[in-house]
Amino acid sequence: MAAKKMHVAVVTAFGKALELQEWDIPVPGPGQILVKTEACGVCHTDLHAAKGDWPVKPALPFIPGHEAIGIVVALGAGVTIVKEGDRVGVPWLYSACGHCEYCLSAWETVCNEVQFGGYNRNGGFAEYVLADPNYVAHIPQGLSPTEAAPLICAGITTYKGIKETEARPGEWIAISGCGGLGHLAIQYAKAMGLKVCAVDIDDGKLDHARRLGADLTINAKTHDPANILKMAIGGGAHGVLITAPSLPAFKQGIEMTRKRGTCALVGLPPGEFPTPLFDVVANCITIRGSFVGTRKDMAECLAFAVDGKVKADIELQPLASINTVFERLEHGDVPSRVVLDFAAV
Ligand code: NAD
Ligand code: ZN
Ligand code: ZN
Repeated sequence: MAAKKMHVAVVTAFGKALELQEWDIPVPGPGQILVKTEACGVCHTDLHAAKGDWPVKPALPFIPGHEAIGIVVALGAGVTIVKEGDRVGVPWLYSACGHCEYCLSAWETVCNEVQFGGYNRNGGFAEYVLADPNYVAHIPQGLSPTEAAPLICAGITTYKGIKETEARPGEWIAISGCGGLGHLAIQYAKAMGLKVCAVDIDDGKLDHARRLGADLTINAKTHDPANILKMAIGGGAHGVLITAPSLPAFKQGIEMTRKRGTCALVGLPPGEFPTPLFDVVANCITIRGSFVGTRKDMAECLAFAVDGKVKADIELQPLASINTVFERLEHGDVPSRVVLDFAAV
């Protein structure tokens, strides 16, 4: 009998438009599950992946997408921890080894054998996706698939990144980049009791940041954010979270960091940035990379949404519109997060 087919969006060459193709629906092997996709957010990381921006590139062809939410429809041999009918998320942290020094210390995000969803494992720009049941997100009741989708990358990454700045309630955090990640970062930071300075290069994004509760906003295109921030609050921010996919934002982020504060780097534009070494040393500043979050962070970040403290602003689009969505993302024309809605495939 011929295998059943599914619609997918595929990267066949770096920097080229994705191809809409029909692939066989995969069959879960031992220890795997098959998820029928309901929704998948479009992260700027998918764009970096499709352009081949980073040093370690995925093998071609591949299906991007790491904010997939769907229903478990088939179990491979030996799977017991999820059941058919469960709603799960298939995230960037697709699987890890479970036994290296990082897995053993609950840092599975930097596992030596980590696999990435939508990068070196096919992701959610497809009607069906295979997943490792040990690493899927468990989507709580009360969250719709489309509103849950951005939380399993943009949400977890910013929630974790804010924790990594070690800023405490009542203190200031500066959030650079107020797009898909940043608009959720502002909400997590407010819910965690922080005062928020939002920085972007787009006035529309900054208007939105104020509506989401930002206490101070700065346009980094027209103003020097470190000067404005220091004048407004009498020093830098205790924590800084850089989500902007743009190198100039990184040096500015370090300049915005208060003495003894931490600047958490999350955005991933290709390249390197100059570090003002004397200031970093003399002001005892910590610069820290932060990469998505663990399964524990996932459960915590979803709970904020269930409690109504965080809500992704989403624009629904069909899978077939992916190339237009990528073009808009590249030019900063996506207000917050586009979610591919598979009810509309
Ligand atoms: P996005 O395109 O939705 O948002 C980016 C925002 O940054 C936009 O609002 C844009 O106007 C703003 N911006 C651009 N240049 C700026 C500058 N110089 N200063 C301030 N703001 C600027 O992208 P996104 O989906 O939020 O992803 C952002 C970055 O985070 C990407 O590089 C992505 O790969 C990375 N990312 C990292 C992780 C991680 O685990 N570290 C996880 C997810 C995404
Ligand atoms: Zn992402
Ligand atoms: Zn490991």
